[in-house]
Amino acid sequence: MRRALAEAAQAALAGDVPVGAVVLGPDGSPLATGHNEREATGDPTAHAEVLAIRRAAAALGEWRLSGCTLVVTLEPCTMCAGALVQCRIDRVVYGARDEKAGAAGSLWDVVRDRRLNHRPEVVAGVLEDACSAQLTAFFRAL
Ligand SMILES: [Zn+2]
Repeated sequence: MRRALAEAAQAALAGDVPVGAVVLGPDGSPLATGHNEREATGDPTAHAEVLAIRRAAAALGEWRLSGCTLVVTLEPCTMCAGALVQCRIDRVVYGARDEKAGAAGSLWDVVRDRRLNHRPEVVAGVLEDACSAQLTAFFRAL
């Protein structure tokens, strides 16, 4: 999560909301990272999780991220939760909850919806205070 926080700081440098993500391979080593790049690229889908998932799949040479873990500083939105189900990732670890748009337990629980055929394990609230503080500081500065 500290690595994800460092990624998130990169987003803020470009004026993007500081959200950072890291995908860990089955052996626990980092496979790929990503940070929010919506403002930097003008791409509405350039969320930290989507970018990290794409890079991890490219590194592995396949779309299935079975055995992998995604660590992200903010609870995934519905788009990213959908991508996490689609890539068959094993585990999602997040820091700050997103009561307004979170789709991993707060507003929705897309990743653990029993109607879907793949449901990653979710670990919430890891370094939650540090993750929340980074977001709060960004929005306060605006
Ligand atoms: Zn998202």
